[in-house]
Amino acid sequence: MPDDSAFPAAGMPPLDGDLLTASSARAPAAADFGHLVHRMPLAVLRPGSVEDIAAMIRWASASGKQLAARGRGHSVYGRSQVDGGIVVDMSGHDGIGHVGRDRVVVDAGATWRAVLARTLPARRTPPVLTNYLDLTVGGTLSVGGIGGTTNEHGMQTDHVLELEAVTGEGKVVTCSPSENSGLFDSVRAGLGQFGIITRATLALVPAPDRARRYVLSYPDLEGLVAGQRHVLRDTRADHLQGAILPGGDRWQYQLEMVVFHPSDEPPNDALVLDGLRDDRSRSEVEDISYEEYLELFDRFEHAQRSTGEWSRPHPWLTTFLPGSAAERVARGVLRDLAPGELGGLGRIMLYPIDPRAVATPLVRLPDEPVVFAFNLIRSGPQDADRIERMVEENRALYERVRDAGGCLYPVSALELTADDWAEHFGPLWPTVRRAKERFDPQHVLTPGYHPGAGGA
Ligand SMILES: Cc1cc2nc3c(=O)[nH]c(=O)nc-3n(C[C@H](O)[C@H](O)[C@H](O)COP(=O)(O)OP(=O)(O)OC[C@H]3O[C@@H](n4cnc5c(N)ncnc54)[C@H](O)[C@@H]3O)c2cc1C
Repeated sequence: MPDDSAFPAAGMPPLDGDLLTASSARAPAAADFGHLVHRMPLAVLRPGSVEDIAAMIRWASASGKQLAARGRGHSVYGRSQVDGGIVVDMSGHDGIGHVGRDRVVVDAGATWRAVLARTLPARRTPPVLTNYLDLTVGGTLSVGGIGGTTNEHGMQTDHVLELEAVTGEGKVVTCSPSENSGLFDSVRAGLGQFGIITRATLALVPAPDRARRYVLSYPDLEGLVAGQRHVLRDTRADHLQGAILPGGDRWQYQLEMVVFHPSDEPPNDALVLDGLRDDRSRSEVEDISYEEYLELFDRFEHAQRSTGEWSRPHPWLTTFLPGSAAERVARGVLRDLAPGELGGLGRIMLYPIDPRAVATPLVRLPDEPVVFAFNLIRSGPQDADRIERMVEENRALYERVRDAGGCLYPVSALELTADDWAEHFGPLWPTVRRAKERFDPQHVLTPGYHPGAGGA
């Protein structure tokens, strides 16, 4: 692939960092974890300062180009890619400030793992963490950030005290609930449409000492969902998730809950398990440190890497179902899907959330007292035709979810039209459109979410 010799063009701003145009630098920015979409940028900016990002946005706007931030590229459908535009590689913009009692200020390119490496020695933690910790703060705050404690504490975007962002006009703005709150409410879960997040002040809470983890098996979907509802209702668990796993030619139904506790006060297992009708002969209980709890997903990553699935295409679909339709939709999907079709280590995540815990305006959830995260975590085969069909299946599944009153968690692998985005944001759509005109009037930012969102 030849370098683009016509670039950098005249009129480029002076930069503290580097603007890379070699094909070896651009090619990684034309790929992501999904391996489904490839769009080649004109250049990759490794910013040396926030002003570099602002200057590049102003240049892109004046030159009719588009620009997107890239955290660590864990999108599954090209959301951080820009065809013929500029990708801002945020991974080096990763400073972490002093860890205070209740907050820490971090640059948006820092990963959650790096944040924890600084906060845990002070026995502090963000209240919500994604299962996978090698995602960047800016990357997850731009979608929401869901994790095992979301059942009680909402999304990561609900625990941000202040943000610094560069708008689509290239202005560096500090925003919070009390200062420029319109931008604050737009950028959180704003899919990169209104600003590039450069810095975040994250709320911290005391880190638990230990985590007692219960993995309970159920014979069927109904049992799993009933158990999960029971646990959600009386808030006995600090972490509540669950999954439907392929087990040969059958499905296995697994509830996972974790109770945090001080070292010298382990929870009473009988009380924690009271009223749950799982197959107790197959239950697993482990007592691990909070650090080991945070690293649980690493076991899954390790297993996926060892089978090669980690580097295969990932046509993932992530949604939220209304509680009233969760079982019906899940049952229908299970009926149409053979367990083997998820990929060796694939799974369907299914777990309930109390939507009252989620306060971020742009996180869309069904309007019901209980909603269920419903995610098809599939690793695709190498066969390109089959992969294409899986993305098409995602579309059909999304429509099924939507028809049942469900919503998309927008990190999914599927095409979305302008009408889809209008439906996704529902009553908020006029607000989203106004925010776009206000903060990114030239529609410079993050075209990977489709012109439907970019052109709001
Ligand atoms: C293995 C794996 C596990 C995951 N687990 C979870 C999970 O438990 N919970 C969960 O919520 N999500 C999870 N995700 C999805 C994840 O939240 C999103 O894919 C996230 O966007 C990826 O983070 P990233 O930092 O690599 O960002 P990228 O993929 O690089 O970017 C994602 C999007 O955010 C935009 N963006 C990136 N940085 C910024 C910024 N600083 N300002 C504005 N916009 C920005 C990009 O332009 C792009 O549109 C998981 C993904 C993977 C691959």
